[in-house]
Amino acid sequence: MDAIEGAKTVTVLRRLVAWSEKIFDLSAAVVAPVTDRRLQPRIPTAVVVKSSIVMFWARLGSLNALGLTSRASCWKKWLPAPTCSADTMGRVHALMDAGELRQGIHHIYESLKRNKALPDTQGMGIAVVDGHESHTSYLQHCSGCLERTMHLETGDRIQFYHRQVTLMLLWWLPSFEAFTWNSGIGGYHRSKHSPGTVVSTEYPPMLPGAPASRAPIRLLLDHEPQRPGEDEVAAAMRLLERVIHAYPRAFDLVLADGLYLTAPFFNFLLAPRKHLLVVLKDERRNLYKDAAGMFDFIAPQQGTRGSRDCLWWDFPDLLSWPQVNRAVRVVRSLETWSVRRQLDKRESIQTSDWIWATTLSAAQTSTAWAVGFGHQRWDIENHAFNELVSQWQADHVFKPEPNAMECFLLVAFLAYNIFHAFWALSLKPQAKRGTTQSFWATLICAELHGRAIPGFLSP
Ligand SMILES: [Zn+2]
Repeated sequence: MDAIEGAKTVTVLRRLVAWSEKIFDLSAAVVAPVTDRRLQPRIPTAVVVKSSIVMFWARLGSLNALGLTSRASCWKKWLPAPTCSADTMGRVHALMDAGELRQGIHHIYESLKRNKALPDTQGMGIAVVDGHESHTSYLQHCSGCLERTMHLETGDRIQFYHRQVTLMLLWWLPSFEAFTWNSGIGGYHRSKHSPGTVVSTEYPPMLPGAPASRAPIRLLLDHEPQRPGEDEVAAAMRLLERVIHAYPRAFDLVLADGLYLTAPFFNFLLAPRKHLLVVLKDERRNLYKDAAGMFDFIAPQQGTRGSRDCLWWDFPDLLSWPQVNRAVRVVRSLETWSVRRQLDKRESIQTSDWIWATTLSAAQTSTAWAVGFGHQRWDIENHAFNELVSQWQADHVFKPEPNAMECFLLVAFLAYNIFHAFWALSLKPQAKRGTTQSFWATLICAELHGRAIPGFLSP
C-alpha cells in the first residue's frame, strides 16, 4: 500500500474521494442536492458540505483547524470553488436543509444495498435506537437547548444540554467463514472447516444477503434532536416514524434500553409490524414480577456466549402486560466467565445478569439468538457514540445554533458511513493489517496538511 511507505505518496484522501465518487456518485447524488436558505449565496453549498465531510474524515475537530488547510491541493480538484471561512461554514450549516442531508444518507444506504454490501431483506434487519447527550454547558446555550436544574454546593444552577436519539442499522455477515446453527443447547457454532466443530460460540450472523467474503458495515441512518418538554422516547418515536417511512424494509427488529419499555412505544412499533427487544429491569412491573417468580422454579437451559457459560430462562407468551397489543416473551441470561487479574495474575469470576422483553416468538428466534440480540444493543454505544465522540469529535459545538448542530451531526453520519464502507469494501486486508481506522484518519489529516504549508515557511 503506497500510503504507508512515505509522506510523499500519501493519497488516502484522494483514494477515498475517488472511491466515493465511483460507488456513491458523491458530488452529484449526495452533495449537489443539498441547499441552504441564503438568499444570494456567494459560495456554493457544495463547497461547505464537502469541506465539512473532509473535516470529519480528517478528524480535525474544529472549523478553524479546517481553515488552516485551505491551501491543500486536494481541494482544488474536488471543490467547485475555493474553501470558505469558519464563519461561513457555521452560518451555512445553520441555514442548511437537514432533510436533504438525510436523503444523502439514504442514497449511501441504497448504493451499498445495490452493491450487495447489505443483506437482502429476506434476513432480519436490526436497528438500535438510543439517546446521546452532548454539549453540556452552564454558560453557552441556544434556542434548541434542554435545561435542567443542578443542585450544586454553591446553590442551584441551570445546566443547558442537547440530547438526540440516533438510529443505527446493524447486521452480521460471516467473513471468510461458514456458519452452522446448533439448536441442541441453544449454542451457536461457528465452524471454519468441518461443520459441527465448535470453534467459537460468537453471536450468529444474519441470514445471507451479501457475499461471504465481505465484512459487515454498520450504518448511522438518522438522528432526531429531543425537544424541550418532551422525553427521549417521544423523540425516538418521531425518529422511527421518519426512518420507517424512508426505509420501510431496512429492519424488522428494534433494540433499545430499559427506558423504552413502555406500552405506547411497543404498540407504536407493532403497528408497522416491527419487533422489539428491550432491556427489562424495572422490578415494579408485573411482567418482571411474573418472570422473576418463575426463575427459582423452572430449570434454565445451559448455553455459551464466546467464553462465557450461560444459564438461560425463556418464558414465551406472557400476558402480564395487557397494555401491549400482544403477548410478550421474557428472556434472561445469567453469564459467568473468568478474568485473569493483571495485578496478581489470579483468576477472578465475573458474572452478569440480563433480562429482556421481546415480541419475537420462540419460533422466530431461539433463546441464543435473543440473547445475542440483547447484547448487540451495545453496538450503538461502542461503534456509534464512543467512536463519534472520541475519534470523530462529533460532539464539538461547531456553531451554537440548533439547525447547525443537527446538520453537522448529519454530515458526521455521512462521513462515518462512507469511511466505514471504504474501510470494509475498498481497503485490502493486507493494507489494513496492523493498522487502525484512527491511523488511516491520521494519514488523511497529514495529506490535507502536507501541501498546505504557507509559503513563508517553505525552505
Ligand atoms: Zn443549545
